[in-house]
Amino acid sequence: MTVGEKVAMMTRTNFPLGSAERPLRVAIVGSGPSGFYAADALFKHKGVHLRIDMFERMAMPYGLVRYGVAPDHQSIKRVIRSYERTARDPRFRLFGNVQVGRDLSVPQLRQHFDQVVYAFGCSSDRRLGIPGEDLPGSHTATAFVAWYNGHPDHRNDRFDLSGRRVAVVGVGNVAMDVTRILVKDPEELASTDIADYALDTLRKSRVKEVLVLGRRGPVQAKFTPKEIQEIGSLPDVDVMVRPHDLDLDEYSLSEMRRKKPARRNVQYLMERARLGSQGGSRRVLLQFLASPVEILATGGRVGAIRVERNRLLADEQGRIRSVGTGVTELVPVDLVFRSVGYRGVPLPGIPFDDRRGVIPSARGRVLDRRGGSNGTGEYVVGWIKRGPTGLIGTNKGDSAETVRSMMEDIRGREAQPVSEAADEAVSRLLLDRGIRPILFSDWNIIDREEQERGRRRGKLREKITDPAEVTSLLDGQRLRAPVG
Ligand code: NAP
Repeated sequence: MTVGEKVAMMTRTNFPLGSAERPLRVAIVGSGPSGFYAADALFKHKGVHLRIDMFERMAMPYGLVRYGVAPDHQSIKRVIRSYERTARDPRFRLFGNVQVGRDLSVPQLRQHFDQVVYAFGCSSDRRLGIPGEDLPGSHTATAFVAWYNGHPDHRNDRFDLSGRRVAVVGVGNVAMDVTRILVKDPEELASTDIADYALDTLRKSRVKEVLVLGRRGPVQAKFTPKEIQEIGSLPDVDVMVRPHDLDLDEYSLSEMRRKKPARRNVQYLMERARLGSQGGSRRVLLQFLASPVEILATGGRVGAIRVERNRLLADEQGRIRSVGTGVTELVPVDLVFRSVGYRGVPLPGIPFDDRRGVIPSARGRVLDRRGGSNGTGEYVVGWIKRGPTGLIGTNKGDSAETVRSMMEDIRGREAQPVSEAADEAVSRLLLDRGIRPILFSDWNIIDREEQERGRRRGKLREKITDPAEVTSLLDGQRLRAPVG
């Protein structure tokens, strides 16, 4: 830079936002796929100088890839490699163990960053709203998933698998994951990253039958063909369907003609119905047009489920709904997993659409209560933007859309330069509150340790599930690190 340019720079107060002199400062709240795809899309914007700080409530990154994807679906978890590349970018910092809304407030984020991206997904569950839903032995499928995946908040959950029959309510891919884990030979899971306590419980399981209940018909089932076929291909497991559940009405026939995955599902289920029982020691019985209307207790815990037969009806928008026929059946079951979808949780200070369980937005920009842009530089990506649907890859395009809006919004904007100290402001705030963030370099230590523990047990990884153990591991490493 020439002396003249330096003088000009010192006398100028504002610089274009995203310039070398005034990089754009972005906070991303949540370290799951949508957050990482947003970071990646931001870094790919050539000519925009930026810094990204990512905040994650959990000590470890990657959200549902770590705590949601089933342990026997390791190929899906490979996406982590691309997130690692993003995290190694010198413009990126990870602050794990930091909960926005508790450790850092929304106004503090607005103060320290030009743009904030909410990527915290849907951490709660939809309710069935039926009597007996909260009986001991009636669990959310998502709690079971988090438990076998070593989620620290669920490591002390208990699932009693001593009964023979389990009901799974819902026919989405989470229901398929739960069903598969219940009927699969646990030895097939032993070399994965499943939590050790979950493997022990599954090894002692006496579950022989999983009854999967879909409130609509087989054409409307949300599971993907791959997931149902994977269960059907498990050795010693029968997948069974009642032939009359496959008698399709006119709505279903017309929907099936339009949707290839539905066609493949129905074809597959017809094959299974033809095959019937193959003498497997465990079986999955799929029942369609069947809604639970009550969960009943025996001896203070789940003993049976009352199931109502449904029929289908198209509403004014052409959406096919189920309606009860009044005909019910009582089915003895020992355990119930409710797998009827995730639900977003509001963040104080941010608008929330309670009906849909999402932050209201337009092309990724957060909207205010009246549906206008809230103008605070806040954005959404992933499930908290569009609801809990889609596969991991769906988030790529979704995050890219939001990033396009973010880039449009900085065009032509200028801002005061910020000092180097501003970069440290958030770390200082956390330090003052006694919060110890887990940085990406800390995660690398934990990652290596988990893999090493796994190697010793003949597994891919043994996840550390106790937060206190994370702290002591990192303390030990810091003490061992050479001084100077
Ligand atoms: P989902 O796909 O939305 O499925 C929810 C299921 O619950 C549907 O069958 C739904 O039926 C049913 N349901 C909702 N309310 C109900 C009620 N009151 N009574 C009875 N049934 C009810 O949700 P999900 O299974 O939680 O999955 C979430 C997302 O993650 C999906 O996009 C899924 O594909 C993805 N995922 C993918 C994988 C994978 O690729 N392996 C694994 C897990 C999850 P209706 O259709 O009638 O509403």
